[in-house]
Amino acid sequence: MKYSDFPYKRISVDSQKELMAGWLTRFEKAESADEQISVLKEVDEANREYSSYQAIASLNFNRNINDEAAKAEKEYYDTIGPEMQEIHNKLDKAVDVSTFKDELRAMWGDTFLKMIEMDLKTFDPKIMDMLRKETELRNEYTQLVGGAQIEFDGKTYNLAGLGPFHKNADRHVRKTSYEARFDWFEENADQFDELYDKLVKLRHKIAVTLGYENFIELGYLRMSRSDYGAKEVANFRKQIVEHVVPIVTKLRQQKKEILGLDHLYFYDGINFKEGDPKPKVTSDELVAGAQKMYHELSPETGEFFDIMVNEELMDLVNRDGKMVGGFCTAFPKYNRPYIFSNFNGTDHDITVLTHEAGHAFQCYSSRKQPLTSYLWPTMESAEIHSMSMEFFTWPWMETFFKEETERFKYKHIAGSLSFLPYGACVDHFQHWVYENPEATPIERKEKWLEFEALYLPDRDYDDIEFPKSGGIWQGQLHIYQMPFYYIDYTLAQTCAFQFWIKSEDNREKAWEDYYRLCQAGGSLPFTGLVELAGLKLPFDDGCLESVVQKVTKWLDDVDVSSL
Ligand SMILES: [Zn+2]
Repeated sequence: MKYSDFPYKRISVDSQKELMAGWLTRFEKAESADEQISVLKEVDEANREYSSYQAIASLNFNRNINDEAAKAEKEYYDTIGPEMQEIHNKLDKAVDVSTFKDELRAMWGDTFLKMIEMDLKTFDPKIMDMLRKETELRNEYTQLVGGAQIEFDGKTYNLAGLGPFHKNADRHVRKTSYEARFDWFEENADQFDELYDKLVKLRHKIAVTLGYENFIELGYLRMSRSDYGAKEVANFRKQIVEHVVPIVTKLRQQKKEILGLDHLYFYDGINFKEGDPKPKVTSDELVAGAQKMYHELSPETGEFFDIMVNEELMDLVNRDGKMVGGFCTAFPKYNRPYIFSNFNGTDHDITVLTHEAGHAFQCYSSRKQPLTSYLWPTMESAEIHSMSMEFFTWPWMETFFKEETERFKYKHIAGSLSFLPYGACVDHFQHWVYENPEATPIERKEKWLEFEALYLPDRDYDDIEFPKSGGIWQGQLHIYQMPFYYIDYTLAQTCAFQFWIKSEDNREKAWEDYYRLCQAGGSLPFTGLVELAGLKLPFDDGCLESVVQKVTKWLDDVDVSSL
């Protein structure tokens, strides 16, 4: 069946309420574990259906934002979201006090119950109004950032539209485009400060109302982290400072050589004098190349990618009326994932086909998991599959980049490594912010600069005032939208590097471990999945050190002058 033939319908809240009332009664009155299990299986079947239709509604709108009918469907599912959450909250409470918890645990493992416990710890009817307020403030941020109208070189751009100029081969264009960007932030500085201040204080109040000392623990629970806390993450950041920051400094020295510059400023974010490597194939050739690549990679990926192609589960090329960005979504009822992207002739087109295909392959491989909630793991685990797939496909990069293959690989490794300190900086800053909810906007900016000096010691903003005074993080949407969701990328990257090292050493074994990880989906928390994959836990001492050693060795072997 092709995507366009997938049945779709609106699910009404009333019908769900009625069903849930029935399930709830049966669950609470159940006299055996088996009875409870059969109710939960029915609920899961319904969840599968609901989340599939919701995903279809959202995807169809993303594929054509001018389609009014698609917009109406998406908005319908958006508006019923909170009510659906409330409906499910009732059942969660019943499961949490079930007398057959041991049997439920034996059936689905500990993760199922842990997830419910965590959900319950993040919600209480008395915070409903505050949650609504939080959503409003989040939307205000989205509107503020999305509505940017920036004059540059005689034309008006939004922030995304201005992006390519920051990577221009001409230094003057890079600098002036950044100046235009930050002038706009400066003009709106009060609004950014005020919005964040409100969000921080509101989140603190929500946390205190729920009985927490501050927002940090609640923030971790919201990210469904059941198996590690702020202490472990702090140890991970410490290792980044010790082992990654020095090598990134070395990479910057190398970059000066590559770019032929005496000094690097913040706006020198390009990788090569002539610009980044570009795919040497058309988008059709790219897909054909990827299909061949996935067949050669493993029987599992071959089968998977054929399905993606034959059932039209990818919308890859940029066109008018399409939402920007790239993502992977899924329709659990039909056991199928979907890849959405906007090919635009950059190396990112290839990364989409490896990164998003990593997410999609994991989801497809997890289709036999018994619960819809096990289809995807938590964020720091989910990115392992995608980032590792970027490395597993390295041997085929020549198909796409031809003579620029080495450049692509260098950019990939250097970029991934250089990202770690920035990710840690964003994370450390947020911990400080929520530990000090009464800090003023100016104090926050001063603190940001302190963290920058620790994690990004070479950063030089030249004479651009806004970032120089500590405001640059206001463009990082995670900080406003999803507190504490950022370190995830650095944890996953550390695991992906381990897969890269393994695969250089013993490809078959590495793939075996990876495939096992993909099949496990979200049935285990992060630390459990890392162990299952035979990887070292990023929080543990020595993990980053050994990763960095191997990466450094690879970098040392690169002849920079040939790039
Ligand atoms: Zn991803």
